[in-house]
Amino acid sequence: KRILITGGTGFIGHVLCRELLARDHELTVFSRQPSETVKACCGRVEAIRDLQQLRSHPGFDGVINLAGEGIADKRWSEDRKQQLRDSRIGVTETLVAVIRSWERAPEVLVSGSAVGFYGDQGPALVTEETSPHDEFTHRLCRDWENAALPLADDGVRVCFSRTGVVAGPGGGFLERMIPPFKLGLGGRLGSGTQYMPWIHRDDVVEALIWMVENTSASGPFNVVSPNPVTNAEFTRCLGKVLHRPTVFPAPAPVLKVALGEMARLLLTGQQAIPARLTGAGFQFRYPELEQALAHSVNPGAAR
Ligand code: NDP
Repeated sequence: KRILITGGTGFIGHVLCRELLARDHELTVFSRQPSETVKACCGRVEAIRDLQQLRSHPGFDGVINLAGEGIADKRWSEDRKQQLRDSRIGVTETLVAVIRSWERAPEVLVSGSAVGFYGDQGPALVTEETSPHDEFTHRLCRDWENAALPLADDGVRVCFSRTGVVAGPGGGFLERMIPPFKLGLGGRLGSGTQYMPWIHRDDVVEALIWMVENTSASGPFNVVSPNPVTNAEFTRCLGKVLHRPTVFPAPAPVLKVALGEMARLLLTGQQAIPARLTGAGFQFRYPELEQALAHSVNPGAAR
């Protein structure tokens, strides 16, 4: 298949590109970076720097839309919130307008979203049916999803990946967590009772490809492991795979002062389960946290 990808150079995207290439798909990657950088990162792909280059294109079979500024990279000032919105909703709106100019509509659009769609859900079990709690991450994900919906009216199969916290080697949130843990300075965040709907990157990549290939899939999918854990359990498990103690909790008030509103990312969560993926028979390669963390910390070791 001919597939167009935004966000293809990212922590998830570059592994997705390599996996799609290994399965003989032809890829075009939209990236702000130079073509050589994109190829070094993603493999044998065509790189484009401006989506407008694809106006009046004959068309692609599928589109995967993952572009977005890092949600946890900077404090959420009003300017930063606008960048988080523009890099998702703005890019998606442009993408939809460009797709609508194609001679032939794609069969499928798989578009990004996150478990932040649901907002803080405390200890409740969260499926795709759960009513969201209205807060910044909900509005961001809702508007990001809604920006892609016009294509569903055109008969395109539109799927949303409501992705959890992605663990994998060489990047993502673990890259920031591991150094203090290695120094023995790790610990739970706040009370530690908040849920972390984690997933291994290989399973995210497989779920995205499954959505592209499964012609009956549409709508939102929680892309999370079937075994969400609390932050305290996550902390214990990361300490275990790194062979380090985890006795230094980060108190909630300290995180709130250090991170402002963004502290909600760490102090609240969702006990999200992949109800629709498991219902459709999707098999996880890393259903258990310990295996997923062991592979993320030391990808060379046997599973
Ligand atoms: P990364 O931060 O690693 O990569 C972000 C990607 O988005 C890059 O390819 C970058 O492309 C592109 N991008 C960023 N800003 C812009 C912009 N203004 N215009 C166009 N492209 C932009 O992200 P991940 O791979 O970790 O995540 C991919 C998506 O999944 C993101 O949207 C993220 O919000 C979502 N997600 C990720 C989770 C995680 O734990 N990793 C959890 C839940 C959701 P380039 O620099 O090449 O232009």
